[in-house]
Amino acid sequence: MSIDLHCHSTVSDGALTPAEVVLRAHTNGCTLLALTDHDHTGGVAAARLQAAQSGITLINGVEISVSWRGRTIHIVGLNIALEDEVLQTLLQRLRSGRLLRLQAIADKLAKKGISGAYEGTLALATNIDMVTRTHIADFLVNTGYVSKKADAFRKYLGDGKSCSIRHQWAELADVVAAIRHAGGIAVIAHPMRYELSATARRNLFSDFKACGGAAIEVHSGRSGLNDRLNYALLAQQFGFLASCGSDFHRDGDFGGGLIGSCPPLPPICQPVWSHFT
Ligand code: AMP
Ligand code: MN
Ligand code: MN
Ligand code: MN
Repeated sequence: MSIDLHCHSTVSDGALTPAEVVLRAHTNGCTLLALTDHDHTGGVAAARLQAAQSGITLINGVEISVSWRGRTIHIVGLNIALEDEVLQTLLQRLRSGRLLRLQAIADKLAKKGISGAYEGTLALATNIDMVTRTHIADFLVNTGYVSKKADAFRKYLGDGKSCSIRHQWAELADVVAAIRHAGGIAVIAHPMRYELSATARRNLFSDFKACGGAAIEVHSGRSGLNDRLNYALLAQQFGFLASCGSDFHRDGDFGGGLIGSCPPLPPICQPVWSHFT
């Protein structure tokens, strides 16, 4: 059984349409898939149609942007009811701040001599409702200001870099509550990617647990066996279920793994999918 509970489509900052995501995962042997676009569930219906044709089990998902103690953290919601009003209101509120953020980043880029970032980025966004830093990075590559996307983040867009904006996303407790209201399970996405001290990580896990969070990704993208073992132990200590996801956006991308195919979880893990399969 090949499982992938975290990936992206053109509804947020992925390169494949929701149906193409499912087809690709199926080609790679996936039997259980969750599409988890940033702050948006609009791709799930199309993914579900393709999943029925391909014979894959699809779990409704989303990856929600959170501000926690001054940092951006991502929380995946799995097995959510898509029509849940509390969840959809929260997602809509998150999305509505994105164009203002784009304008603020474009203003900063203009001060560095890079003009036209607002319009140029909008022209690249596949979903006007979901403009991300990935699209701004694409604009910077296309216009030749940087030679690759990683440089766009390193020079301009990464947290704390010259044109970054401290954006206020949703509160951790509100996000976990909304996911639970929608009948879903809240999962800390890619905990190995946040560059947290051991103390900060414990604080994040405790805060998450205290507000009803239930799982962490023990495997994400191209992370290795050491990460899987470390996070499997942490999951055990905190009583979290374990999830895994490729975080696929496009071929050859930053951090993302092969869609539809995650390595097995360490045997001490309690898989999150035992709750919905
Ligand atoms: P946003 O939610 O608009 O802040 O966009 C964040 C997205 O940017 C993430 O989901 C990643 O897909 C992408 N991203 C973040 N850091 C990097 C990086 N260093 N290189 C490439 N993509 C990145
Ligand atoms: Mn992304
Ligand atoms: Mn993420
Ligand atoms: Mn992701």
